[in-house]
Amino acid sequence: MTNSSDSHGSIIPTNLYKEPAPILDKENPFESMMERFDLAANILGLEKGIYNYLKNPVKQIITSIPIIMDHGDIEVFEGYRVIHNDILGPSKGGIRYAPDITLDEMKALAAWMTWKCAIVSIPFGGAKGGIKCDPSKMSIGEVERMTRRFTSNMLDVFGPDKDIPAPDMNTNEQTMAWIMDTYSMHTKKTQTAVVTGKPSILGGSLGRREATGRGVMIVSVSALNKLHINPKNATAVIQGFGNVGSVSANLLYEQGVKIIGLSDINGALYNKKGFNLPDVLEFAIKNGSILNYPKSEKISNEELLQLECDLLVPAAKEDQINSHNADKLKCKIIAEGANGPTSANADSILQNNGILVIPDILANAGGVTVSYFEWVQDRMGYFWPLSLVNERLERMMDEAFLNVYKSAEKYNVPLRIGAYILAIDKVAKTLKIRGIYA
Ligand code: NAD
Repeated sequence: MTNSSDSHGSIIPTNLYKEPAPILDKENPFESMMERFDLAANILGLEKGIYNYLKNPVKQIITSIPIIMDHGDIEVFEGYRVIHNDILGPSKGGIRYAPDITLDEMKALAAWMTWKCAIVSIPFGGAKGGIKCDPSKMSIGEVERMTRRFTSNMLDVFGPDKDIPAPDMNTNEQTMAWIMDTYSMHTKKTQTAVVTGKPSILGGSLGRREATGRGVMIVSVSALNKLHINPKNATAVIQGFGNVGSVSANLLYEQGVKIIGLSDINGALYNKKGFNLPDVLEFAIKNGSILNYPKSEKISNEELLQLECDLLVPAAKEDQINSHNADKLKCKIIAEGANGPTSANADSILQNNGILVIPDILANAGGVTVSYFEWVQDRMGYFWPLSLVNERLERMMDEAFLNVYKSAEKYNVPLRIGAYILAIDKVAKTLKIRGIYA
C-alpha cells in the first residue's frame, strides 16, 4: 500500500497500468523548496545567521540496517532520518520505504514539515526519514525485521519528546505499530506517543485517515468564499483518487460542489453534470480503480488538468503543474492536496494568470494536525470523539488559512510565499527568543 507524508492509507487498492509519462520540470525537491524559502526570507529581511540556521537541517542520519533475509543471507539496507528543525518542539515527519529515496529528498521533505507545522500552529519541528528498499519484493517478515532494526538504530533519535515518525509512502499503521513496540520494548514501558498514524486500537486518533482530505476541503471552501463563489455553485476537478483525492472529492461533494473531473494512475474521467461521489467511491473500492466507471467520458491526464473549473485539487504526486502546462490551466483556485504538485517554475505563470494557489504546506496540513491530536491524546491517555477531532481540525485549518491570507496581503505576495513568510517568521522569532546555545 502506498501512503504519504504523515499520512494514513487509502481504502482504495492500488493498481496496475500507467499513462505515458508527462513532461515534467524535474526540479530537485530541495532546490525547489529553497527557491521559495529564499524569496520569503528576502522579503522578510531575514538576517544571514538566522537564514543559515534555518536553511540547514539540525541533524542528518544515515544508518546501515542489516537484516537476515528469508533465504538466510544478510542484506544491508540504508536508512535515513533528517531532522530539519526542532525549535518549535519535537520534530515530526513520515518514514517512507522506496528504492529511489535520497538524502536530498529527505532534506526537502523535512523542511516542508517544519513550515507546515509552523503554519498550523502545532508545537512540532520538521523531520523526514526512510529506508532505501523495495518492500514489494520483500516478505512481511523481512519488512518487520528491517523496521525493528531501523527503530533500534534510531533509539537515541526517536522519542515522544524528541522525534515522532508517522507513515509515508509504503509504510502504514502496521509499520507504526512495529516502531512503537520496538521503542517500548527498549525503554521498558509502553510509549504510544512515539509515533502517530497508529491503528486506533493502539492509540491512533479517530478521523486521522480522512484528516488530510478534510483539511483540503476546509481550505478550499475558505478560498471559494474569498472569491465570492458559493460552494453550491462551484465546480471542481480532483487529480488522484487515493487517500487525499478520494476524501477531498467526497467531502467537497458533501458541501455541494459539483465534481466534474476525477483521475487515478490509470486514467482520467469527465462528467459535465457532476459525479455522484459515494457511487464512484463504491466502484473504486470494488474495482481497484475509477477507470471504467460508467456515466463518464474518458480523457487524458493533461485534459483533466486543463478542464474549466473553479477548483483544481492535485492530489496525486509532485511536479504535475509545471512550466509546460501551467499556462493552459483554466481553474480559479488550486488547492495542493499533494506535496509539491506545482513546480517552482510554474508559480509565476499561475500568479500572472490570476490563479489562487493554496500551497501544499497549508492545504494538506490537516494530516499532521490530526497527528498532533493523536500525540496529545496518547499523552493524556484520553481519547476524543470524532466530532471533537473534526471540530478542532476545522478551527485550526480556518485559522491557518486566515493567517496565511493576511500574511500574503501584508506583503503583497501569492499565498505560497505568504505561507513561507508566516512559517519562517514564526520559527525565526522563536529561535531568537530561545537564543543560540554555546
Ligand atoms: P495514495 O497512494 O493513497 O493515492 C495516490 C493517488 O494518486 C492514487 O489514486 C493513484 O492512482 C494516483 N496517481 C498516481 N500517479 C498519478 C498520475 N500520474 N495521475 C493521476 N493520478 C495518479 O496517496 P495519498 O496519501 O493520497 O497522497 C497523495 C499526495 O498527497 C502525495 O503527494 C502525498 O505526499 C500527499 N499528502 C498525503 C497526506 C496523507 O495524509 N495521505 C498528507 C499530506 C500530503
